[in-house]
Amino acid sequence: MAFEGLAERLQGTIQRIKGKGKVSEADVKEMMREVRFALIEADVNLKVVKEFVKKVSERAVGVDVMKSLTPGQQVIKIVKDELTELMGGEQSPIQFAKKPPTVIMMVGLQGAGKTTTTGKLANILRKKYNRNPLLVAADIYRPAAIQQLQTIGKQLSLPVFSLGTDVSPVEIVRQALEKSKEDHNDVIIIDTAGRLHIDEDLMQELKDIRALKEPDEVFLVVDSMTGQDAVNVAQSFNESIGITGVVLTKLDGDTRGGAALSIRSVAQKPIKFVGMGEKMDALEPFHPERMASRILG
Ligand code: GDP
Repeated sequence: MAFEGLAERLQGTIQRIKGKGKVSEADVKEMMREVRFALIEADVNLKVVKEFVKKVSERAVGVDVMKSLTPGQQVIKIVKDELTELMGGEQSPIQFAKKPPTVIMMVGLQGAGKTTTTGKLANILRKKYNRNPLLVAADIYRPAAIQQLQTIGKQLSLPVFSLGTDVSPVEIVRQALEKSKEDHNDVIIIDTAGRLHIDEDLMQELKDIRALKEPDEVFLVVDSMTGQDAVNVAQSFNESIGITGVVLTKLDGDTRGGAALSIRSVAQKPIKFVGMGEKMDALEPFHPERMASRILG
């Protein structure tokens, strides 16, 4: 389960402060020591931990003057508010084009879950938003990726546009845009190539696709289990090509949660969705407040 370790640690601390009628500076200090330790253990970026602890401490000292709740509960509320803020505050919705088709580009490193997420997202777009998406197979370097997308398309009964591996990704996307007009697809989701590492060729290719028609969303797919690497990948992609949001996959298997807590603050882009399993319905919108509640129990 996601955040298992962090939740366990924080809940112990919370139990101790919960019933206090007066919260002293020493209580806050002790709690913050434990919070800091719990966050570091959860693999949260160190700078993020420091800022978080500073913010909560500043707000928490002196809450005993507040009357509405018991001071202990007030401190817990501050921690929850700041955790929510850390993860982006509000849920961040999908941006649709004013004039269809909406273009969504999926980018990320190989193995992050890009192709799977492309299918999951299309599924949500059809079911929840009543859209008619076209999936575009633009990862020409891995024939298996094209097949995988075609299999997903069949499974979901959704069209997949592919020109095999001999046509350039830019040309594939250009033709896919034409095709979407003919077939009245109001969203196109482009499954771009992933590499094992970030390299110039990959970034240039993504920039070339971007230049063809400005996408409404550029979703970076990252594997939450890779922790701080995921955060660094998000920062690099954002600096290099500019992303509009992050999809954090494999949160179902991530017991630490460091990436979920650090990405927003480090890469300055919201987490839009989280992957919670391998199945096509295992993609959920990311709700910072619900996630904070889950962590704090
Ligand atoms: P790509 O190389 O980025 O296109 O990655 P794939 O879409 O092929 O996914 C790599 C592996 O991760 C596959 O086995 C997927 O089933 C798995 N995967 C993707 N998303 C999730 C998720 O949210 N949870 C779990 N448990 N597995 C996932």
